[in-house]
Amino acid sequence: MIPTVDNILQNKYLDKDQIKLLLSLDNTEAETLFHRAHEVKNFHVGRKVYFRGLIEYSNICTKNCFYCGIRMDNSRYQRYVLSDDEVLEAARFANDNNFASIVIQAGERSSKDFTLTIENLLKRIHTETDGKLHVTLSLGEQTEETYKRWYDSGAHRYLLRIEVSNPGLYARLHPGDSRHTHKARLKALSLLRKTGYQVGSGVMIGLPFQTISDLAEDLCFFRDLDIDMVGMGPYIEHEDTPLYAFRDMIPSVTDRVNLSVKMVSILRIIMPDINIAATTALQALDPKGREKAIFAGANVIMPNLTPVKYRDNYLLYENKPNVKDQPDETKIALEKNIQAAGDEIGYGEWGDSRHYKRREAKSEKRNFL
Ligand code: SAH
Ligand code: SF4
Repeated sequence: MIPTVDNILQNKYLDKDQIKLLLSLDNTEAETLFHRAHEVKNFHVGRKVYFRGLIEYSNICTKNCFYCGIRMDNSRYQRYVLSDDEVLEAARFANDNNFASIVIQAGERSSKDFTLTIENLLKRIHTETDGKLHVTLSLGEQTEETYKRWYDSGAHRYLLRIEVSNPGLYARLHPGDSRHTHKARLKALSLLRKTGYQVGSGVMIGLPFQTISDLAEDLCFFRDLDIDMVGMGPYIEHEDTPLYAFRDMIPSVTDRVNLSVKMVSILRIIMPDINIAATTALQALDPKGREKAIFAGANVIMPNLTPVKYRDNYLLYENKPNVKDQPDETKIALEKNIQAAGDEIGYGEWGDSRHYKRREAKSEKRNFL
């Protein structure tokens, strides 16, 4: 007999096989799962959704991930870097609109010039917003020294997706050189933790060669790593990438959306107090995607604050939504999404991961004893 959602969720600790069963639920049973995740979210983190204004700082990248539109070898896009003033203007918009937090994301670079520019930018943002605006970085793999310098300059959260937790699958999705290894990715995640960041990671869902077992393993990976934040969303094909040749192997749009919402809801159940993002990629495949994710357990959203003229050149995947929307239009649309899911916006609140705070409190106690 196939167990029901209620049967499975009676287990306090869900193992990989139980997670696989949840990921394979039909639509009616999945609704029950989403409602359970919604209750868990309300109980543990409340009905607030936090904004993180996203600044796509530069599309220059020295890497060549097989799935990504801005990979180094794609010559279709004009490469750009925002000026300091453009970043500061976006940061000011976030601050004036009570977002309390921004994310600076870009292709991966590690030159001295680049790391120093980021360091100086962080200091300026800190000074100009009186330390009120929290900054998250998403700038790929860096040395311990760089992570530390950026931390000391005011960035306290970092997003680095593992992309897929299965090392064999990771190898199929990246070039086989020493700059694209699963081991280095893991090492970077552990350096971030060591430096003191609130660490976020994530995966893509519905990739060629990926199985339900891989996805269940991804969720176990976040739990084993005791991660503070997760951003995961559907893989979306991009015609200028090597992975496009395998597009016939990926699940349908509907299946990728459903799988992604199931991943969010299961993660909320197994890690009740972490921050989980409703990703833009989900919205790209389904106009109600973000709303569905919020209902099923997500509590973070990343409105795009990149100046509109650059957005056509930061296309990680095809059909990226809202590329022409001005930040204030985006804000209004997102407020509607959130209200439709029955939640409210945590304006003016940093929305730190409760999980992180709990983890820190535990380690302080350990150090004290
Ligand atoms: N260079 C940094 C940050 C920019 S890429 C880094 O790699 O960490 C941010 C994320 O975009 C990646 O982690 C990846 O998960 C996601 N991404 C890239 N290509 C994608 C695609 N085709 N579909 C969905 N997400 C994609
Ligand atoms: Fe560069 Fe990140 Fe895209 Fe990989 S995923 S090619 S590191 S921007």
